Amino acid sequence: MNLDRPLLMIPGPIELHPDVVTAYSIAAPGHLSAPVMQAFKNTLRLMREVWEVDETYQPFVVPGSGTLAMDAIAASLVSPGDVMVQVDTGYFSHRMAEILRRHGAEVVVVAGAPLAPPTLDEVGDALSRTGATALFATHVDTSTGLRTDPEALASLAQRFGALSVFDGVCATAAERLPMQKWGVDAYLTGSQKALGMPPGLALWVCSPAALKRRQQRASPPPMSLDWDQWLPIMHAYEEGRPAYFATPATNLMLAAEVALQHIADDELAGATGIDARCARHARAATALRKAWAALDLTPLSKPDALGDTLSALRYPDGVSAELTKSCAKYGAVVAGGLLPSHRGEYFRVGHMGYSVTRPDYLVRTVCAIAKALSEHGITVDEPAAVAAVQAGLAEA
Ligand SMILES: *Cc1c(COP(=O)(O)O)cnc(C)c1O
Repeated sequence: MNLDRPLLMIPGPIELHPDVVTAYSIAAPGHLSAPVMQAFKNTLRLMREVWEVDETYQPFVVPGSGTLAMDAIAASLVSPGDVMVQVDTGYFSHRMAEILRRHGAEVVVVAGAPLAPPTLDEVGDALSRTGATALFATHVDTSTGLRTDPEALASLAQRFGALSVFDGVCATAAERLPMQKWGVDAYLTGSQKALGMPPGLALWVCSPAALKRRQQRASPPPMSLDWDQWLPIMHAYEEGRPAYFATPATNLMLAAEVALQHIADDELAGATGIDARCARHARAATALRKAWAALDLTPLSKPDALGDTLSALRYPDGVSAELTKSCAKYGAVVAGGLLPSHRGEYFRVGHMGYSVTRPDYLVRTVCAIAKALSEHGITVDEPAAVAAVQAGLAEA
């Protein structure tokens, strides 16, 4: 749609569906106006669909970033002195650990081999050794591309009597996580990644056990981070009643309703809704991996533990971070490395949300990277890379 700029193919914010842009591009409506009341109510209902939970689980949507959602969950679940286990997958798991520490937790970080997630045994050992009250993990870590296994981790946490919390900022609505079925207690995200909205909303869903944990805190957390302040507001909007705690991001609520409805309405090869959406991301990721192989680009991290929402790719020998500038010149903005220990060694391509419904966007991205590599002295077979991604996308 906005063809006068290169495609935004970083791991968030992302290209948006034109209907989403239309929905929020209006003068700010009031938070108690009929369209916002309606959008809020539908957003909460659709969140239950996308997170795959029933009415006993509580969705929250508040103004803020993904980091705010992390902070709000930590503020509500940590009592000073609690022991928490954090699965190390890279930059965003380090951020979660630091957030938990700042709320007074003693954090036990479980790291695996470099650029690989720890094994389930390693996580289980830490849970049994420490008696942790919660297990935190990043669903897909945007710094490394690593994906954890929420089903297995949540069941481990249950076995040891700990709550399980997943940071889905780079995964929600692209990677499967049927929250209730898998026994996950909190699953948080931000609006600007796979959910396909502009930046500015923090969204999460809590289990009854997580809601209860907040009640057990001796003293309330900081006001703006306390989900108990928001709970009556969520209930009110769900019931179509006006209520106020802090001003919602009204334009973004209009965008949220449309973006979530698109996910609920998706269809692919017999699958519908969130299942179709996740299948679409898996197909795009597989197709792009074939293109990267055709360009001799190798992943930064352990290949069998990668998520479907982004590619973290090593620069070929002799190529520097200048490559990303050339990519933008050839039509696709990609991101540099983020993991401090490897920052200058790799770049990242986001493939989530609207872009995975647009084969032409994915092809344009592959072409831009091929042309940029060529400009930097690497011999590439651009037609072979394009053929690879197209063949991958054609497979149902
Ligand atoms: C982007 C991201 C965050 C932080 O979200 P912000 O909206 O930038 O605060 C946290 N975790 C993961 C996995 C992310 O990808």
